[in-house]
Amino acid sequence: PLSLVWLRRDLRLHDNAALYYALKSGRPVIPVFIFDRVILDALDDRLDRRVEFLVQEVNRLHDELAKLGSTIIVRYGKPVDVWKELIETYTIGDVFTNHDYEGYAKERDKAIGELLAERGIGFHTSKDQAIFERDEVLSGKKTPYTVFTPYSRKWKDTLTDFYLKSYPTENYSSHYWQTKPEPAITLADMGFQPVGEPFPAETVSDKLLDTYNETRDFPALPHSTSQLSIHLRFGTISIRELARQAKAADDQTFLNELCWRDFYFQVLDHFPHVEQYSFRREYDQIEWRNNEDEFDKWCRGETGYPIVDAGMRQLNTIGWMHNRVRMITASFLCKHLLIDWRWGEAYFGKKLRDYDLSANNGGWQWAAGSGTDAAPYFRVFNPTAQAQRFDPKSVYIRQWVPEVDKPSYPKPMVDHAMARQRAIDTYRKALAKV
Ligand code: FAD
Repeated sequence: PLSLVWLRRDLRLHDNAALYYALKSGRPVIPVFIFDRVILDALDDRLDRRVEFLVQEVNRLHDELAKLGSTIIVRYGKPVDVWKELIETYTIGDVFTNHDYEGYAKERDKAIGELLAERGIGFHTSKDQAIFERDEVLSGKKTPYTVFTPYSRKWKDTLTDFYLKSYPTENYSSHYWQTKPEPAITLADMGFQPVGEPFPAETVSDKLLDTYNETRDFPALPHSTSQLSIHLRFGTISIRELARQAKAADDQTFLNELCWRDFYFQVLDHFPHVEQYSFRREYDQIEWRNNEDEFDKWCRGETGYPIVDAGMRQLNTIGWMHNRVRMITASFLCKHLLIDWRWGEAYFGKKLRDYDLSANNGGWQWAAGSGTDAAPYFRVFNPTAQAQRFDPKSVYIRQWVPEVDKPSYPKPMVDHAMARQRAIDTYRKALAKV
C-alpha cells in the first residue's frame, strides 16, 4: 500500500509537515493535488492569477518529482469524487495532509476523513501553514485572544527556535514511489487562460528586512514590502524558514506581520461566524446604503479620490494591492460609501492573487470596525490626508491614475466631511440599538 500526501496550500517538497510524516511512514509516498471544482466552478473570470499560479507550481512539483523518479497525481474534480476514484485506482494505506482553517475546508476534510476511515485508510493531519494554530496561543484564562496586541505578546514569548525547525524531508527522498510520470495538467484543460505575467520571487532579501520598518507604509517604493503573499498563500515558501530569517535579521516589524497572519487564522478557526457575520454582532445592525452605482465606481477606481482609485486600479491590473492602500480603499467603501464590508470582501476575494479568507476577512472587518481589533467607529480615515502622508509626491497615484491632473479625472464622488459625519451617525444609530 501507498502513503498519499494531499497537497493543498503547501506546494513544496521541502520543510512540509504532512509530507515529512508520509515519508517516515515506511510506505512508498506519492503526492496528490486536486484542482477543486467546488472552488473553480464558482470563479466567474477565466483569467485568474491564482489558478495560473497553481498550474505553474503543480507542474514544477511534477518536474521535481520526476527527477526523483516519481510523480504527482493531479486531478480536476470535486474532492469527494476524486477520493472515491483514487481509492479504486490505488492501494492506499494512509493519507497525510496539512490543516486548513476555513469553514469549507474543515467540512471537506471531515468528509474525506470519514470516507477514508470507512475503507480502513488512515487520515493524518498536521500543522504546517501557521507557526501557532488553534489553542497553542491562549490567554491566561485559556480562551482564544480576540485582540491582537496581547496575542502578539504571547505569540512572541512562545516563539522558541523549536517551533521554527524545518521538517527535513530531503533526508527521505528515496521514499517516493518510483513510477512513471503522470501527464501534467494545463490551464486550458480546465477552461482557464493565462495572463502570462511573471509572479514575484519567492525570496526576501536581508536588505528588505533591514529597511522594512521604515519602508512598509509607502506604496510608491518598489520594494517597500516583500510581495511574498502569494507564496505564503500557496505554501511555495515555508513559514518556518521565513520566520527564522526574520528572527535572524531581528526584524520585529516583519515578524509582527507574520503574527497577524497566525492571529487571523486562529480567529477564523475559533469564530467561524466571521465568514458571514460581523465578529461583533451588533455591527450587523448597521443600515448600509449599498448603492450599486457607487460600488461600481469604487470597483473601477473612479471615485475621484486619487489614492483610492490608484489602489483599486492596481488591484484590477495586477491582482495585488499595497497593504496601506488596502486599508484606505476598504475604509472608504465601508465608511464613506456605507457599503457592506462583505461586498468589498467579496470583490477583493475575486481579484487578489494572495486572497486568503482569514486575512481578507480580518482586514475588512478591521476597516468596517466590526472586527477583533476594532478602531472606534468615529475614527474615519481621511483619504486625502492618508495620500499626503504616505504618497506625498503622488508617485504611486500617478503610476496608476496617470490622468489625475487632467480635467477628465472625476471630482470626488462624495464630500469627505459630509460622508464622515454620515458614517458616524449611521454607526451610532446601529450601536445604540444594542
Ligand atoms: P508584507 O508586508 O511583506 O508582509 C509579509 C507577509 O505577512 C504577507 O505576505 C502576509 O502573509 C503577512 N501579512 C502582512 N500583513 C498582514 C495582515 N494584516 N494580516 C494577515 N497577514 C499579513 N493578506 C493576504 O495574505 N490575503 C488577503 O486576502 C488579504 N486581504 C486583505 C484585505 C484588507 C482589507 C487588508 C487591510 C489587508 C489584507 N491582507 C491580506 C493583509 C496585507 O495587506 C497583505 O498580506 C500584504 O499586503 C501582502 O503583501 P506583502 O506580501 O508584500 O506583505
